Parts: sequence; C-alpha cells; structure tokens
Amino acid sequence: MKLLRVKPSFFCLLSLLFFSAFVFSQQTEIVDFISVKAVVRPLLKEKKIIANASYTFKILKKCDSVYLDAKGIFLLKNIKNHKIAVILKNKKIWFVSNFKPNQTYTVSFEYETSPKKALYFLDHQIWTQGQGKYTSNWLPSIDDMNDKIEFDISYIIPSDKTIVANGKLVAVTDNGNVKKWSFNMEHPMSSYLVSFAVGDFSKKTIVSSSNIHMELYYPTSDSLLIEPTYRYSKRIFDFLENEIGVDYPWQNYKQVPLKDFLYAGMENTSATFFSDAFIVDSIGFVDRNYVNVNAHELAHQWFGNLVTETSSESHWLHEGFASYYALLAEKEVFGEDYYYWKLFQSAEQLQSLSEEGKGEALNNPKASSLTFYEKGAWALHILREKIGDSIFKKAIKNYIEKYQYKNVRIDDFIIEVEHAYGKELIEYKKDWILQSAFKSEQAYQSLIKSNFINEYFKISALRETPITLKMAEFGKALIFPDDFIGQEIVYQLINEPLSLTLPLYKKAFNSNNVFVRQAIALSMDKIPKELKSYYESLLYDNSYLTQESALGNLWVNFPENKSKYLDKMDGIIGFRDKNIRQFWLFLALITEDYQTVKKEYFLEELIEYTSSKYAYNIREKALEYIGYLNVWNRDSLVNLIDASQHHYWRFRDFSRNIFKGLLEDEKYREQFMLLKQELDTDSLKFLKMMLNEK
Ligand SMILES: [Zn+2]
Repeated sequence: MKLLRVKPSFFCLLSLLFFSAFVFSQQTEIVDFISVKAVVRPLLKEKKIIANASYTFKILKKCDSVYLDAKGIFLLKNIKNHKIAVILKNKKIWFVSNFKPNQTYTVSFEYETSPKKALYFLDHQIWTQGQGKYTSNWLPSIDDMNDKIEFDISYIIPSDKTIVANGKLVAVTDNGNVKKWSFNMEHPMSSYLVSFAVGDFSKKTIVSSSNIHMELYYPTSDSLLIEPTYRYSKRIFDFLENEIGVDYPWQNYKQVPLKDFLYAGMENTSATFFSDAFIVDSIGFVDRNYVNVNAHELAHQWFGNLVTETSSESHWLHEGFASYYALLAEKEVFGEDYYYWKLFQSAEQLQSLSEEGKGEALNNPKASSLTFYEKGAWALHILREKIGDSIFKKAIKNYIEKYQYKNVRIDDFIIEVEHAYGKELIEYKKDWILQSAFKSEQAYQSLIKSNFINEYFKISALRETPITLKMAEFGKALIFPDDFIGQEIVYQLINEPLSLTLPLYKKAFNSNNVFVRQAIALSMDKIPKELKSYYESLLYDNSYLTQESALGNLWVNFPENKSKYLDKMDGIIGFRDKNIRQFWLFLALITEDYQTVKKEYFLEELIEYTSSKYAYNIREKALEYIGYLNVWNRDSLVNLIDASQHHYWRFRDFSRNIFKGLLEDEKYREQFMLLKQELDTDSLKFLKMMLNEK
C-alpha cells in the first residue's frame, strides 16, 4: 500500500534516491516544525482516516531533507509544493529539497490510513491515545517530544455525533450528513498530546474562578451521574491554579469519559480523556471516585504539557509532579489525614521494593510507575518540607515561567529550586533523585509530624499484642473511630475469640463509619449468630463494595435466608461494572428453588453482558461468572472470540486464558468449529490460529 505519486519537480530521479536521509540524533537541531493545519475525517465503518494536512517548518541549518514520523501505513496523494519532493520511506515522510537556513517552507498533501494503534474505532466511539502509542499512526507528526508544534485541526464527523479535541472550537459547519468541527490552538505542544474523541456525548459547562471554561462531557444517557462523577472539579481547578501559582495555560479545559479507554486518564492538552469506569453515582463515589485522576490529569496541563521532559530520564517532571499535586488536591478535598495516609501507603510499597533490592532512582528512564509516580511525589513532599512552602512555591512558579512551551531536564528544575532557596541541594539530589533505595527513615520522620499517623502507629503496633491487653484501648478508639484507625482495629479482631471481640464488633458496627463497617464486611467470613442482625444492616450501607461482600457472606452463612437476601438486593446495579447486579444474577442462578421460572432470563442477561456493547470491565465479570457456571452457549462463545481480540491487552489476555481453557474440552472445541461459518474475516483468522495452537 505504499503508493506514492510525486508530481514532476526539478529534481532528477537520482538526487531523490540519494538524499542523505540522515537521522540526526535530534532533528530539532536542523528544523523547527511550526504548525500543522489539517482536516481529518475518521470513517467509523471503514475504520479509516482520510485527511489533508499542511506543514509549515523553519530550517535552522542547511540540509537536503527533513522528516515527519508516519508510523502507520500511509497512502499519500495530491502533494502541493513543487519544489519539495515528498517521499515515504522507513515509517517517515521525507521532505527533500535544497533547504536554506532561516527560511520557512510549507508542504501540503492528502493521505489515507487505517491505524492499528493510537486511534481506536469502537461501535459508537472513536478516540485517540498518543502517549506510548504514537500520534504518527494516524497523523504524520513528530514522535520526539522536543519539537512543539501548533496544531489547528478540523474534524469531519457524522452530524449526530459530538467531538472533543484540543483547543478552542471556532466553527461548526453543517454539511447534511456530516459536520465539520474546527479547533484552534494558540500555543505549540508535543505531538503525543494531539487528540480527539467522537461519541454520543452531552456536556455541562462550568467556569473556574479565573474564568476558564470547563466542559464536563458525559454519555448522553448518564445525565443523572454528572454531579457525583465530576464532584469537586471546580474546587480542584481553582485550588491547583492557585497552588501552582501560574495561570492555567490553555484556552479551555475539557474532560470526557471514554468506553474501554486504555488508562485511568490521559492529559491531552486542554482535553483530558478518562476511563468511563469513573462514572459513578453518589454511592459509587465513596469507593471509586474520579477525584485523584481528575487532579492528576489537570496538573499535567502544566507539568508535562506546558513544560515537557526532553527524554524519559526526566519523566519525574511529568508523573511525580502530577501525582504530588493530585495528592495536594486530595488534601484540600478530603483533609490532611487522608494526605498522610496515602503518603504512608506509598512509603510502605516503596520500602518493600527497596528492601528487595529493586529500588529505582527517579532519573532512571526505565523506572516503574511506582517510582515515577509515588517516589516522585515523595521527593516533592520532602523537598517542600526542606525548603519551606513559600520558597517551594516561588521555585515552581519560576520554573514554569522560564520553561513554558519548552523542554526541560531534571537539572533545570533543581537549578531553579537552588536559585530560589539560595543554597545548593547536593544531599537532597543524592538521596531523592540519584539514589535507588527509598529513604525510609527520612520518610518516617516526615510521617510522624502528623498526629493522625502517630495515633495510627500506636494502634498498628499492637498487632502482636494479646487481645486482652488491648481491648480497653480499642474500645476507646472505636467510639468515634477514624476511617483508617478503625479499619486497623477491625483487622486485628480477626481470629480472636468472640467472647472477647463481640462488644468491640458491636461498637464498630454502631460507629456508623462506612469504612470501618466495610472492614468488617471484607474481613469476617464466619458471621456469629450474635452479630447476624448487625451484619445484615451492611446491605444498606452506602458502599457497593460493602454491599457485594455482605450479600455473598450472608448467602453462605445463613442458607435458610438466601431468598430473603436476594429479594432485598434485586435491582441494585452497583459500580459501572455492574458488580452487584452480576453477582446477584450468579447467586440467583445457583440458588435452588429461587425464582425458577425466571432463571433462563437471568442467564440471558448475564450472557448479554459479555457482548461488545458493554465496557470491558462489565464483560470481564460476565465471562468470569459464565466460566464458574460453565454454561457457555453460542452467543457467549462468539463474544469470547471477540473479547480475545480486544484492543486493551489486559482484557484480551484474560479472555484468551478462558478461551484456551475451553479448548481443552472436546465439547467446546466442537462448538468453536461450528462457529466458523458465522464469523467475520478477522475473527475467523483468529479462531483458526487458536484451534491450531492447541
Ligand atoms: Zn500522569
């Protein structure tokens, strides 16, 4: 498919074949791409992009060729610029000419491509993911983060769909079946941040205190869930803008939840995409809210998008900073104890990694996300303690203002801090940036500045103490328990004699603290008769985690009441993955004599949830329950074949494992053989591969 029609130019064929195609370690030394103007038309059914794009670049050093990355398979047409040859070679689009320094050139062409990566076509949505996947799979651009470009892109999409993309929407033109949405960016950014998402969305617009328009998108069918899903959005925005001390740098801010998104969130410039698993009602908010991801992606709009790393050696400047500022935003919303609790949790993980000898330095380009995110946040927490709030804030402000729209290294940041601090930070740098081990003692000294952590440590230190010696202390702490201390006490009651723990459990139940009660739901397998009615009250708690666990435990412990519990929980959906509904269907199916006539509908509903109409986290649970029940039929097997080719690798691997297990069984192997004539080409090819594999 690598067709190329170069219009006749003054080049002879020979010179085209021998252009240097020299890949500078940094092409940024010879050329600066200034702008991309493009019209992109994604075709949902054909899973294809048709586009025209115009590139303007300034030559910095005399050369005979510059390139754009083009990772996908591109078909180029109608090249406009007779003096520059355009050649597709080695996953790059080369512009070849006798380029002169300080001159600006423009080249335009049309192209078609069917991206296999970075742009995903779902049944009713199309969305992109640039970071880690490369935007140049669908839009020829620069994979290197060091060339920042102003992207002004228009998209042609079906009239009944909505689009979210970078920058400001400046025009929508209606052409009957399709509409053209034109977006404008005022400033340059790295290509990995170029993005768009098409779907059936509605939006609610709110305005920050600094007058930035924040567009909160949601699937049109979920209008009742906007408030809990986006709870605290304005407060987080105002807080971060004030805390960072530099105005939000882009024209507006949009957020959109996407089906089967690859990550929790992605900070595309002015257009954050996030997983629709974060769409919650008020009960779901308690256990799985978007607050942390909301703040994390917003912080990236400064740390990553405005000031960008030169390479992964400086990845801390993106992820460590976004994680730290998200933690500060959570402190603002949930309080200081929560902040210290999260620091303590990550310190425990980092310490155990470090003790295994697997600690990583923050400037290690191959470090794990635990290091970049959590150790990265710790490094900033410690830095701030060391130099004080006002110097820290001054340094951050200077750093951003100096390097905005540019690229940076860790040293550039440290120098700014040293400048504001008036002293060198040699020890700090050694301990927190260059050192692979986690500095546990420094972390501990910092943690015990929190009264709450001190109280928690007093209780957690009692784990080996006989129950008789700690009952009085537990009793006192459970009167108005703290979320985390209360949970710790409940976990210390497991396996202790009921004669001693009964009054403590009653106190814990009566505390009415949703997290303390959740700890009971998650830790108590055998429910004593004396606590039966207390335990039953967990079914009414405002937590879908608690409800699911309580339903399962009650069903097992009190078989005579199975129907009563099922009746009580009938119709409750739970989180976005329908955790309670699916568990309920499973239990209803295996409960003898329960709604016998409806059982076939229950199974039908469960099978329905395996279909690609539903998000992968719903399908995953459904496939799991059908696996337990071992009731595969034609529909669920077809859906399993589809799931085994999913774009999200975790779900794909999960489904393939089930698939492989079924192939061991002659009965299912035969059923798969029978499906052959029904499948589309891709699925058929995949099925044949799986059948031969075994
Ligand atoms: Zn991040």
